[in-house]
Order: sequence, then structure tokens, then C-alpha cells
Amino acid sequence: MKRVVILGAGISGHTAALHLQRQLKRQVEVVVVSPNSNWNWIPSNIWVGVGKMSKSQVTFPLAPIYQRKHIGFRQAKAVAIHPEGDADHPRAFVDIVYTDPTRSGDEERLGYDYLIVATGPKLNFAATPGLGPDGNSFSVCTADHAQQSAAALETLIGELEAGERKTLVIGVGHGTCTCEGAAFEYTFNVEHELRERGVRDLADVVYLSNEYDLGDLGVGGMTFAQNGFETSSKMWTESLFRERGVRAILRAHVERVDPGVIHYEELDGSKHTLDFDFAMLLPPFRGVDMKAYSNEGDDITDELFAPNGFLRVDADYESKPFDQWAPEDWPKTYQCPRYANVFGVGIAFAPPHAISEPRKSPNGTVISPAPPRTGMPSGVMGRTVALSIAERIRHGDDRPLRTASMAAMGAACIASAGAGLRRGSAAAITMYPIIPDRRRFPGSGRDLTQTSGEIGLSGHWTKLLLHYLFIYKAKARFGWFVIPE
Ligand SMILES: Cc1cc2nc3c(=O)[nH]c(=O)nc-3n(C[C@H](O)[C@H](O)[C@H](O)COP(=O)(O)OP(=O)(O)OC[C@H]3O[C@@H](n4cnc5c(N)ncnc54)[C@H](O)[C@@H]3O)c2cc1C
Repeated sequence: MKRVVILGAGISGHTAALHLQRQLKRQVEVVVVSPNSNWNWIPSNIWVGVGKMSKSQVTFPLAPIYQRKHIGFRQAKAVAIHPEGDADHPRAFVDIVYTDPTRSGDEERLGYDYLIVATGPKLNFAATPGLGPDGNSFSVCTADHAQQSAAALETLIGELEAGERKTLVIGVGHGTCTCEGAAFEYTFNVEHELRERGVRDLADVVYLSNEYDLGDLGVGGMTFAQNGFETSSKMWTESLFRERGVRAILRAHVERVDPGVIHYEELDGSKHTLDFDFAMLLPPFRGVDMKAYSNEGDDITDELFAPNGFLRVDADYESKPFDQWAPEDWPKTYQCPRYANVFGVGIAFAPPHAISEPRKSPNGTVISPAPPRTGMPSGVMGRTVALSIAERIRHGDDRPLRTASMAAMGAACIASAGAGLRRGSAAAITMYPIIPDRRRFPGSGRDLTQTSGEIGLSGHWTKLLLHYLFIYKAKARFGWFVIPE
């Protein structure tokens, strides 16, 4: 029986595991390796971060689901890939180290016929001195981080209630960060919470970002058609910031976070400081720490992985100027060029380049967003690769692979702007394609009829409904597979 090993049980890896098992039932051995015992619906961490949801509402244990679905599970982290095996083991394998508390530190050599790398990001707080929960700022990237943020926010609200003035800074903690959408969501959820608690007038809420313009969101901004007019995500977002009284500092690279003081550089090269009482700054992402070795034991990490630690797949990695970037540069099958049985999906694959125009300050500091790979495309990639592998296992390795390029894919994202069944709101954003194609869609590079932005209470209800729907799906309950990624 063929064995498919999936590294990572997040949105892309877990989706791949469920689809593979459903396709091949007991004709395949699917083994998932993940250092966390829980699955986390990361988008709802925003609500944990403002105390509107608990950790247990956004996470659940993976082991019972995998047991029910006859999927193997190792609570462990992968540390090395041996795609050619080694002198003693001709079969390809991965080295894993258990994080399961009952056998923490034990090592295992896990052989595979197909490997899906779905390890998501390493949260690279170390890129900015003082950044992160072990330093001087908070995060909402994990449910635990979000809980810590909620506790600190609660303390701060208590001080505001006592009449003190406070500055809250929310944004990204490095010039090369991605995930500005999550920073946007947390900003407006916090702002909403301050209003609900009657202390908004004492708080200065600052959004600090590496985006060139508001509404860039790492996708180079968007143009929407609204009521017969064209509007840009820049204008749309600026009006929201004005309406809610949130101050934005853009084109910024955070150099250092000291207790209560952020040091940052702007794109024009100037250096500034910003005092804060509460800061939630997302870290930059890089690939998780994994090595790769040939069958002779040579280190081939640089061949499998790009310098940012993400897995090289079927993308065009040739370095090109911005005006020569093309939709075809983006991967379609997510197959590793050197090893046909290795795939990389979700945040774990190395993008060929950014989507937003790259920019550097006169000091040479890169200050522009890295490309986001949000939940929907990550899930679609997981499913696509699962179906490709299932077909190859059934019919042989000459079967063509399925494709799911981000240049031919749309995305929908609902960005919460405040939780509450009656007074909540969210921005519902759709775009097609994710990667702009200026040949097909002159101007903005996207189809105006399929690119839209709408903010309102119904967006909040939809986001809440999606929370329950995606957790239902991830629990592989009855009919889970009819819920789209
Ligand atoms: C705060 C926040 C809010 C967000 N909100 C939204 C939103 O509203 N909408 C949206 O579309 N997207 C949102 N995103 C983005 C979304 O969470 C990601 O697109 C998605 O999680 C990517 O899926 P993934 O499978 O690539 O990675 P992940 O979901 O991060 O999963 C990675 C998995 O790999 C595991 N892993 C790590 N290291 C190893 C290792 N060495 N070996 C084995 N396994 C390993 C991890 O434990 C995890 O199980 C948000 C992100 C953040 C941080």
C-alpha cells in the first residue's frame, strides 16, 4: 500500500489529508505529522484576541478525527527530508521528532511514496529585536498568542476606564511582513471593542504597516466596480480609517521594539519612534526549519528550499523586474521540480515573487508586503494536490497533475471590522484573479465584475457562519466535502 505523508495539519495539510482518505479509502496510508495536537481556525484568532471567543472555540483535538477517518497521526515536527533515501534505506523518508508529551524528543524515520509539505509559516519574530510575545509586543497568530493579547487588552481597557489616555499600535512588525489583512482586522476589532466599552475617546489607535497605500493588503490593492463607478481599495480603506478615527503610519519597517517604544524606518529613509501602551505587531513569515539530504548524505537544502525557507515548486523563480512579472510565473501543480513525488502547498510553497510592487528605502531596507496565501487558496491547493496524488496512486505516475494556479483562481476573504450580532461589521472582499493579469484585464489586472468590496453587518454574520462551517468541515462531519475550501 502506498503511503502519503503530509507535513502540517493546518488549512492546506488537513484539507489534503481528508480529501486523500476520502478518495482512496483504505487503499492508501495517509500519515499526518504536526507538532500541535490541535487544529486551529486561525481567522477566528482575531476574536480570541479581543476576548469575544475562547481558545476552545477556535481549536479542537486532531487525534480523534484522524482515528475516525483512519488517518495516521504523529504529533511531531519534521526536521529533515531525504527524498532519495540514504545508503541503508532506499525509500524516501522524513526525519521527525516527537512533540507529543508522552514521547517528547523521540525520533522516527518515516518512509513515504508521496510527500506533501504543508508546514505553513515559521513566525519569524527573531527578525526584529524585541518583537513578539517573548519580547515587547503581542501577536494573534496562534490561539495562545491571541489569548495573551486579549488579557493585555483587558488590562489596558481597565486603565482607560480609570480615565488614563493610551496609545494602541496594531500592524506588522517588519518591512517584509505579509498578512496585512489580519492586522487590519485586529485594528478594527480592537477599535470596535473600545467603542463598545465606552473608552474610545481616550485611546489613540494607530495602524502601522509596510503597505505603500492603505488597502494594498499585499495584493497590490484592488479596483472595484460599485454602483456603476470604479473605486480603489485605497479610497475605500482610507474612508473606513477616517470614519473610525484610526491613524495610519504606512511604508514603515519596524527596526526594533523596546518596552513601550517602536523604532521604525520609513520608505524615504527617515527614522522615527512611536510610543505605545499596547502593541500587536504580526511577525514576518519564513519557511519552517527543515533540512534536505541526498542519498549520499549531502546537504541539498538549498536545492529544495528557497532562501526564505519555503519549498521550491513548479514556479518560475528567475529574478525579474516588476514590469516583467507574469501570471505564468506562479505555480500550477505545486510539484517539486527535482522530486516528482514531493509537493508544497499553502504558505509552505515558495512564491516566485511578491504581488505588490517591491520597494526599498534609500538605506536599502525592503519595505513592501510579501505575497499573502490566504485560507481559501491554501485549502484549494491542498485539495488539488490530494486529487493529483489519488489519481496517480490509482492509475499510475503518468497521469497528468491537476492544476490550481493563484493566477487562475479567485479568492474571497471576509475581514472582520468588529464582532457583535447587532453592531458588528466586516468587509467582504472578493478578487479574481489573485495574481493580477494585465494582459487579460488591462488596468488593474483583475476582472472588475468579480472583484468587490462591501462592508456591513451582514459581513459579520457571514464571517461567523463561516467560522462554524469551516470547523464543521475540518471535523470531517457528515457531508464535510460539499463545503467548498
Ligand atoms: C491572525 C490571522 C488571521 C487570518 N485571517 C484570515 C482570514 O480571515 N481569511 C483567510 O483566508 N486567511 C486568513 N489568515 C491566513 C490563513 O490562516 C492562512 O492562509 C492559512 O492558515 C494557511 O494555511 P497553511 O496550511 O499553509 O498553514 P497553517 O494553517 O499555518 O498550517 C501549518 C501547519 O504546519 C504545522 N507545522 C509547522 N511546522 C511543522 C513541522 N516542522 N513539521 C510538521 N508540521 C509543521 C503547524 O503546526 C500547522 O499544523 C489569517 C492568518 C492569521 C495569522
